[in-house]
Amino acid sequence: MVRFTEENTKHVDKETENNSTTDVPTVKKKVLRDLIINNGGGLINSWVDSMRACSPTHLKSLMKQSSWLKEHPSALDMFEEILHASERKQIVMFLDYDGTLSPIVDDPDRAFMSKQMRRTVRNLANCFPTAIVSGRCREKVYNFVKLTELYYAGSHGMDIKGPEQGSKYEEDKSLLCQPATEFLPMIDEVYQKLMEKTKSTPGANIENNKFCVSVHFRRVDEKNWSDLANQVRSVMKDYPKLRLTQGRKVLEIRPIIKWDKGKALEFLLESLGYANCTNVFPLYIGDDRTDEDAFKILRERRQGLGILVSKSPKETNASYSLQEPDEVMDFLQRLVKWKQLRSGA
Ligand SMILES: [Mg+2]
Repeated sequence: MVRFTEENTKHVDKETENNSTTDVPTVKKKVLRDLIINNGGGLINSWVDSMRACSPTHLKSLMKQSSWLKEHPSALDMFEEILHASERKQIVMFLDYDGTLSPIVDDPDRAFMSKQMRRTVRNLANCFPTAIVSGRCREKVYNFVKLTELYYAGSHGMDIKGPEQGSKYEEDKSLLCQPATEFLPMIDEVYQKLMEKTKSTPGANIENNKFCVSVHFRRVDEKNWSDLANQVRSVMKDYPKLRLTQGRKVLEIRPIIKWDKGKALEFLLESLGYANCTNVFPLYIGDDRTDEDAFKILRERRQGLGILVSKSPKETNASYSLQEPDEVMDFLQRLVKWKQLRSGA
């Protein structure tokens, strides 16, 4: 039980103020306040705040946008600088899927990538080692991408597999990494419980991603987000070995092990033989908070760079930005063209 403190009140008021464009400020304020009083709400409150922060529904001011773009300029505008930084280094590509290669759509099962994007990624994989790093289970993301020549890191990197036909880059053709296998029965159990628990929240979609469970709220009315957060919490409280992270309109439940998209990136670089190399240039493109683990690793290693896909300013460890999957495609096509010209020269 969390007390209803003045600080909490200020927080709620500030939240309402910040979202003054919302249709239901009073209802939201009441919902948040009720949560604070009734549900050990510090936690739920911060979940809901975070759901909102990861899934912006309100336009940010143009002023804020332009100052953010100064710090995280468009990777298309900075294309020449990026090439210059990668000079005499092996580029390795890491691509998130949802919101990066495919648009965010209401039904996560229909997050298809365009044929043109698929062709672009295939060309990219012919030029550079390329990995897809996704929160989805590996099989599912493969079914969307359908390219056998890629590395796939599903379930936030907890399920990694090399190209089906082996790879020209990697020595161990049977590359496979599954650091959370012991959690499979637990994840399955939580999936079943969440299915049952969230039945009463219209639009909630629970996805079993093998090593993690995703609770999509793309189709849940914002006024029901706190109910959903409560339902998820009521299931998770019995599983101290699981933790919650958040992406764009999705809550992710995954094992508490120290493994994330950043670790997956390091594992893949190592598998490709670039563990202690200075002549490698990893480029990671992703759109949500779980990609930040990878952006952070790149900053720590002082290697390569991260590109955040976002239309609105967000706190990020990425160096550059692209607004949407169409811009990602432009960027990848320019990389391919540059490499092909270079190889031909
Ligand atoms: Mg994404």
